[in-house]
Amino acid sequence: MRLHLASGNAHKARELQALADSSPVSGPLRIEIVSAVELGGMPPVVEDAGSFVGNARKKALALREQLPAGGWVLADDSGLCVDELGGGPGVESAYFAGPAGDSAANLAKLVRVMNEVPEGRRGAHFLCVLYLAGPAGEELVFEGVCGGRLLPAPRGGSGFGYDPLFVPDGHGESYAELGATVKNIISHRARAWARLAEWARTVAECRRLQA
Ligand code: IMP
Repeated sequence: MRLHLASGNAHKARELQALADSSPVSGPLRIEIVSAVELGGMPPVVEDAGSFVGNARKKALALREQLPAGGWVLADDSGLCVDELGGGPGVESAYFAGPAGDSAANLAKLVRVMNEVPEGRRGAHFLCVLYLAGPAGEELVFEGVCGGRLLPAPRGGSGFGYDPLFVPDGHGESYAELGATVKNIISHRARAWARLAEWARTVAECRRLQA
């Protein structure tokens, strides 16, 4: 099964393919994450829906317009919600430091605005919405959350975005220190993917029983 990814973010594509590879849907059925680049690039989408689900839906439907008949689209909208910032940057995570969408600047801004906030008030969670849009008008939403806290300064060299600042619950190291193998078991994206894979498994099983 091929899922066309409505994103230009290569990190997300890699993480999603690793998740697909580690949770085969049903026996040998393999999910291949296909970059939007193969369809001529991700069409520009203004992410102004005000919610993760709304933005993910906009991205998924924009790419579905470009798909040959019969194709499925997967969109990921995700972000970091910080308790002290009333849930921000949230849906604005990619543009926290400005419209350029500069990850290093976003991370530096978060370090700066959280600078004076004491240990006990540094709670945060990552949220991921995976949105599937199918050829017959199917629209499905899968959500995953990972709670944790923010470090005073970035640590670790793996991953992307806010990974070096976020320590997931039950761990003493940041996402960026834990690395891809651990992150892909516990992350917000992994939890959303587990729900998607469970749905795909059920569909595959129904088809097998009907055959
Ligand atoms: P989106 O492409 O509009 O969904 O923006 C997501 C933004 O949230 C990214 O640019 C990152 O800043 C942040 N983000 C989402 N998921 C992760 C993650 O797994 N690690 C670190 N940052 C993330």
